[in-house]
Amino acid sequence: MARTFFVGGNFKLNGTKSSIKEIVERLNNAKLDPKVEVVLCPPAPYLDYTVSLVKKSQVSVGAQNAYLKASGAFTGENSVDQIKDVGAKWVILGHSERRQYFREDDQLIAEKTAFALSQGVGVILCIGETLDQKKAGTTLQVVERKLQDVIDKVKDWSNVVIAYEPVWAIGTGLAATPEDAQEIHHSIREFLAKKLGEKTAQETRILYGGSANGKNAVTFKDKPDVDGFLVGGASLKPEFVDIINSRS
Ligand code: PEP
Repeated sequence: MARTFFVGGNFKLNGTKSSIKEIVERLNNAKLDPKVEVVLCPPAPYLDYTVSLVKKSQVSVGAQNAYLKASGAFTGENSVDQIKDVGAKWVILGHSERRQYFREDDQLIAEKTAFALSQGVGVILCIGETLDQKKAGTTLQVVERKLQDVIDKVKDWSNVVIAYEPVWAIGTGLAATPEDAQEIHHSIREFLAKKLGEKTAQETRILYGGSANGKNAVTFKDKPDVDGFLVGGASLKPEFVDIINSRS
C-alpha cells in the first residue's frame, strides 16, 4: 500500500517571529511535491502564529511536547487541548533531547502518547539508540522496548507516525546510511506486524531522523520502508524544500 510521504520540521528551541515567517513563506511560495504531508513544529509560543501563516493544505503544524493532562496545576507544560485550540494537529513525543535533558522515560512517553491520541492529536513518536547501544549491537532491542511500552497503552495507531532517530545522528552531521536505515525500518515494521497486525504495520509511516539534509535525503529515495524524514537543523534552512521534494 502507498503510505503518504511525511516530512516533519522540528525547529527545536530556535526561531523568532521574523525567522519563522521567512520559513513558512518560503514553503508557501515553493513548488512542493503535492503528495507529501509536511508538519512544522515550532517552539510552543509560536504555534498559533505559525498556523496563521501557513497557506498550503498539505502543510500543518505540530508541537514539540505535550503533557498527559489537558489542564490544571502543571506549570510550564503544554496542553494537547490548547495545541488543538490554536489549530495545530500533531505533537512530537519521545524526542531524544526530551529524554536526555528532561529525563523523560519510556513510561512517561507512552502515557503522553496515549493521552494525546485520545484527545485527537497525532503523535510523531521518536525512538532510537545511543552510540553505546549501537556499538553493543542492541539497536533493535532498544527500539522495540520503546515501542512495546506504547503498544501496551495504544491499540489504534492510525494517528501515529514513528520517527526512527539514532541519537548519535541527531545534530551531528553524521546521518545513518540509507541501507542501515532501511534495515532498521524494515525490522520495526516486522515488529509492528507481530504486535499489532499486518494492516497496522503496512499503514504506519516510519520516518528517518538524524542529520537529514537537502543533499542526503534523495539517497533514501529507493528505500521502501523509509516513509519520510523528521528534520531538525535543516528544517530552518532553504534546503528543507529539497528534503520535502526528495521523492519527486
Ligand atoms: C531532530 O531534532 O529530530 C533531528 C533529526 O535533528 P537534526 O536533523 O538536526 O539531526
